Amino acid sequence: MELPATLARTPARSQARKGEEACPDVRNETRAEAGPPPRRPPAFYSSVFAQIEEIGWERLVSSTGDGGVSCLVFRVVDGQGRVHLLEITLPMGYPSSPPSIAVGIPYLPEIKWSKSSRLKDVFCQFQEHLNILQEFWSTMEEIDKVLLVADPTKPTYAMSHRRIALGDDCYVLLNVDARKPSSLPEDAKKKFHENLAAVLDVALPAPPSVSSSNDDEQADCGICYAKHLPVDDELGTHSGCATDYTCENTSCSRAFHTFCMRDWLRSITTTRQSYDVLFGNCPYCSDPVAVKVTDR
Ligand SMILES: [Zn+2]
Ligand SMILES: [Zn+2]
Repeated sequence: MELPATLARTPARSQARKGEEACPDVRNETRAEAGPPPRRPPAFYSSVFAQIEEIGWERLVSSTGDGGVSCLVFRVVDGQGRVHLLEITLPMGYPSSPPSIAVGIPYLPEIKWSKSSRLKDVFCQFQEHLNILQEFWSTMEEIDKVLLVADPTKPTYAMSHRRIALGDDCYVLLNVDARKPSSLPEDAKKKFHENLAAVLDVALPAPPSVSSSNDDEQADCGICYAKHLPVDDELGTHSGCATDYTCENTSCSRAFHTFCMRDWLRSITTTRQSYDVLFGNCPYCSDPVAVKVTDR
């Protein structure tokens, strides 16, 4: 059984009016009966542009909604190089009404917002929240690395459950408390899986890749999270291929499919193209990366 990857959404602190936190397409539907669409004052746009500038245009992944700026998605890299897409929606009453945020993480921060707040304040509060979640993600990554996880096979940063195989068709469903990832009390000095083995009093089977990790070190793509692209005629020469691109930043060295990197770069507004090469930034460490537009 797999839980849906939650894209938690919450209006920031003081309650936004019902409907205001909805994305622009939803808002468009309600307009039909409500007469002419409400207009943003012209100052709204220049103010939002200035506030995006404060965060950095290079972090803006997409912007949609009225005038193209009422739903903003920013790329946020946390202290461990994990990439998060933070969606900020500006309600009609913005900035008196607080923006709402949506992002795939286990729980959202409570955003403090006042009339003089700016988007960079939301951004900073979100970054601080990511710092708090680092221990949780490290715990989950450790579990994925050393235990035989039956599902989810493609965990997202929002998921806090794992179904662990014990052998003989036996499983335990773990739910790690994102607010207190080390709450398994056995021995605070031990790792989560060591404590789990002690509590259950069984030897927990390791995933097959741990024992053979040295001879066939094939990394997952940092964009599609798979080792191999699907076998599909539409992918042409890329069909079924392994990761073939590695970030040159040695402290990152994240592996990718050239195919995925090209797609990713094309989706980013700050990507530049010179002749047949796309120049952009690694989605993990933001160092410069470049891939050819075509395979020839
Ligand atoms: Zn890929
Ligand atoms: Zn990188």
